[in-house]
Amino acid sequence: MHQVAAHPLPSRLERDYDFELERVARWVSSGEFRRVLIQSAPGLTHYLGDVRRWLEAETGASVVVDGRGRFGGCDVHASPPGVGVDAVVHFGHTGFVDVGYPILYVPCHSRLSLEPVYEMVSSILTGFPTVGLEASVQHVKTLPGLRAFLEARGKRVLVGEPGRRGAYPGQVVGCDYYAGIRVDPRVDAHVVVSGGVFHSLGLALSVDKPVLHVEPYTRRVEWVPRSEVDRVNRVRGYAAYTLMNARRVAVVDTPILGQHTDGVAEDVAKLIREKNHSEDVDVFSVEVFSNEFLIHLKEMGYEVAVTSACTRFATDDYDRSPLPVFEAREVMRLYRSGLNVDRGVVMLQ
Ligand code: SF4
Repeated sequence: MHQVAAHPLPSRLERDYDFELERVARWVSSGEFRRVLIQSAPGLTHYLGDVRRWLEAETGASVVVDGRGRFGGCDVHASPPGVGVDAVVHFGHTGFVDVGYPILYVPCHSRLSLEPVYEMVSSILTGFPTVGLEASVQHVKTLPGLRAFLEARGKRVLVGEPGRRGAYPGQVVGCDYYAGIRVDPRVDAHVVVSGGVFHSLGLALSVDKPVLHVEPYTRRVEWVPRSEVDRVNRVRGYAAYTLMNARRVAVVDTPILGQHTDGVAEDVAKLIREKNHSEDVDVFSVEVFSNEFLIHLKEMGYEVAVTSACTRFATDDYDRSPLPVFEAREVMRLYRSGLNVDRGVVMLQ
């Protein structure tokens, strides 16, 4: 049984994120795992070499580094990875998939403090007496401090319970903004703490109130412009028109465990064939739904791609996407409602 860490933690790992390496070492030792795969969100992959060295020295297990960044807690192998490992440690997300093999999720909370921007956030929120606070998992631990500061300045602060894909109060995920949606009717504005604007824009597309984006790395604090929300919705509206008039559509499924749902790709392909009066609707399976794959589809003459996998591809990078992309369940709703794209974001239950 693993007791206390015998090896000092590399300072880089100590400084930036909480990798919880002592907890990881205890889990590896108590499970008596001999060969472990470590994987992480794309932004954390450059730490994995340090993690491997420390973990091997600490536990004696052999540690293999996954060859690609993982996009969410959903992005895990469907069966024990075929490289002879008996357990997986997944850094940078919270888990919500029943994988059927030993896996430990470590959220990797950022160690960055938001204190330098408290005053700025408070003054920008003048005129908004009640606010909702949300964050991506890396920054969700900053919410209690920000909340206390804003409450001391007389604000009423609400932090919603997460949806099924989150684990912490206020946590939002690219396909799950329920923490913000739950409190939206009772707040005047939202504050989202996340690296990059993706989660803030996603929430802005999902709620009625204005969204203030707090960027912890650069300390920028700015409203998500209403014009940007409207623009995304216009792009999505045009994409919907393209979809409904397309002759050639690619429906893209994935073997990734937390993204694949049996039958969804086939059902949506059947629906599009019927509605568009076209047999030219094909189902593909790819592990990584990349821009390169979309270019390939375009070269083959497909006009629209529909993904039954990760919903974020429908709204992330929409400006650079070689083809309009829709999420499968959104397509089903579109055909039912008759081209009603009133929300530019798609969420899963
Ligand atoms: S389905 Fe996509 S948006 Fe949702 S958790 Fe997975 S990678 Fe993130």
